[in-house]
Amino acid sequence: MTKKTIKFILFFYILLFYNYHGQHNDSLHMNNTEANYCSKLKINQFEKTFNLLKTNYYGDTTIDIKYYKLNLSIDYEKKYIRGIATINAKVKKNFIDNFYLDFYSEFNIDSILSNNIKCNYSQISTNKIIIYLNRKYFSSEKISLNIYYQGTPNNSGGIGGSFVFSKTPTGNPVIWTLSQPYGAKDWFPCKDTPSDKADSSEVWITADSLFVSVSNGKLVEIVNNKNGTKTYKWKNSYPIANYLISIAMSNYFIYENNFYNQDKKILPVIHFIYPENFQNYKTNLDLTNEMLKIFSEKFGEYPFIKEKYGHAECGFSGGMEHQTCTSLGVFREDIIAHELAHQWFGNKVTCMDWHHIWLNEGFATYATNIYYEEKYGKKIFNDRIASMMDLAKKAIGSVYVNDISTAREIFNYNRTYSKGAAVLHMLRGILGDELFFKTLNEYLNDPKLAYSTATTEDFQQIAEKVSGMDLKYFFDEWIYGEGYPKYIYSWNYYTKENGKYLLTIAITQKPNTNPKFFTMPIKIKVSTSSGVVNFILFNNIQTQQWQFEIDDKPINVEFDPDNWILKDVEKENYTSISKEIVPQFELLQNYPNPFNNNTIISYHLPYESKIKLKIYDILGREVATLVDTFQKSGHYHIEFKPEIYRLTSGTYYYSLISDNFIETKKMILLK
Ligand SMILES: [Zn+2]
Repeated sequence: MTKKTIKFILFFYILLFYNYHGQHNDSLHMNNTEANYCSKLKINQFEKTFNLLKTNYYGDTTIDIKYYKLNLSIDYEKKYIRGIATINAKVKKNFIDNFYLDFYSEFNIDSILSNNIKCNYSQISTNKIIIYLNRKYFSSEKISLNIYYQGTPNNSGGIGGSFVFSKTPTGNPVIWTLSQPYGAKDWFPCKDTPSDKADSSEVWITADSLFVSVSNGKLVEIVNNKNGTKTYKWKNSYPIANYLISIAMSNYFIYENNFYNQDKKILPVIHFIYPENFQNYKTNLDLTNEMLKIFSEKFGEYPFIKEKYGHAECGFSGGMEHQTCTSLGVFREDIIAHELAHQWFGNKVTCMDWHHIWLNEGFATYATNIYYEEKYGKKIFNDRIASMMDLAKKAIGSVYVNDISTAREIFNYNRTYSKGAAVLHMLRGILGDELFFKTLNEYLNDPKLAYSTATTEDFQQIAEKVSGMDLKYFFDEWIYGEGYPKYIYSWNYYTKENGKYLLTIAITQKPNTNPKFFTMPIKIKVSTSSGVVNFILFNNIQTQQWQFEIDDKPINVEFDPDNWILKDVEKENYTSISKEIVPQFELLQNYPNPFNNNTIISYHLPYESKIKLKIYDILGREVATLVDTFQKSGHYHIEFKPEIYRLTSGTYYYSLISDNFIETKKMILLK
């Protein structure tokens, strides 16, 4: 879903509030910021309609949904639907004799059959029915339910109005659904949670012959009923979250072409557009195939390759990534890319609950930037990242959405979209391109997550597995923490007796609330008279200092020159730091190196300090602590014997750590 869609919500509810019946489309392009959006939202409609769901809602966990089939007859004039919902589910407990579903209370239920036997049901609370089965059903047994119902759908649970009867700007009828986050139950009985995907689904739509009716998957058949109506039968054979099941209907013009993927598989790309808009949109619609190419190369094969991709034009101001058929109101390049990216991030792997919505929205937002990077180059990409970060800095609260009772919280643009995307950008900075894209691909293809659901922890685990790094600090502070680091850095150097230069870099972070400060690896670029030297400083103390011996005189020191980190940074005048007040800690190269039985690590302390000297393996795992005590100022020589720690041949790192100094050097053990 895009920012534009969110703006639509505001508009939609203003419409409701003022009981305004005019055309929507003229006024939708509001350029208000997210802050304005929030402050303007004086109607507490969202809070009411979402039943104050502040935490996970997993529906009835005694059943596992396998299949939804919606056979709907839709009367546009009367705003009325008659439906038969077929739901197949598997029993997950030892046995059950009843279970509940989420379903809009105002629908009239004509009857419910389970495995073709009529059964009793009752409403247990608003928008929830309990179904009493004719007997006990045992673990893994299949229940097949037919629910016959009719009425006017509700419009409160979906961000774009759940099920909307509207008119196009030229006055033609249009119907669309937009169920995310809590609106699927407004038009069909379901387990209203992204956590339980159906293995497949079908949507049959019967309506006036003027409608071209669109849904997920492949069009199996169009039946002319010879009574002025047609039935469109759509079949989706991939796992699908309930909120991604959709309908879009109008007098569409159909524009179809093919996308050929790397294996020369053919994917039909089908656009359903208001006839009068087609010529205006064609240029941007034609970008879809290029986007499919870029995303397939970056993220793997289009996840629904056996079916289709396309757009169905709707009257809301934004997009919604319905599986295989995005509903779209604004045909802008970035929105087209964003919704397409969701087919991988959101539809193939879906956030398990709305707390983890950044796995959908942050990822689709960042993937859009990757499209721009591939197509238009680094400069455009960097500009987009800079504006994304400007918004991300305004985020209030954690990326993990604590309160999922309102769309405003779940789809907060600055936090869920911009900061979510910034988190991925920072992860890319830490992992490097190769490991970052490998992480995304493993995430999308993990047998537990692909075509299923995921949490932040699932993603973290994969990033850690791929990189061999412990990333707990990163996800803790960036997903569960708030704010961003505000750095002050300074640097100085002096000439050593050997003619080389000892460069000191000091970093302080202004206090944050949670975390108190951010742990991050920071790239530092030092320009010298003879070229450039790069260092990565692992900044894990609020006020910290590093020293490096470099061959040439430092001229300039740049902090995070490639803008990987969401941050503010100020440079303090280095002239204020004199040689005298800079503590001259020094860690020397071990000798011998490479080494076998033993090696000597030497260092210098300028004053009494609590000192740790630790050894790490190549994956950053601590393997030995050689010193952990207070030491007086002076020179120290510490012997390191690898056999005590049963270390095998390879590269190791040793770090000298005090309260405000840390330096790491590499050594090689050859056995
Ligand atoms: Zn989105």
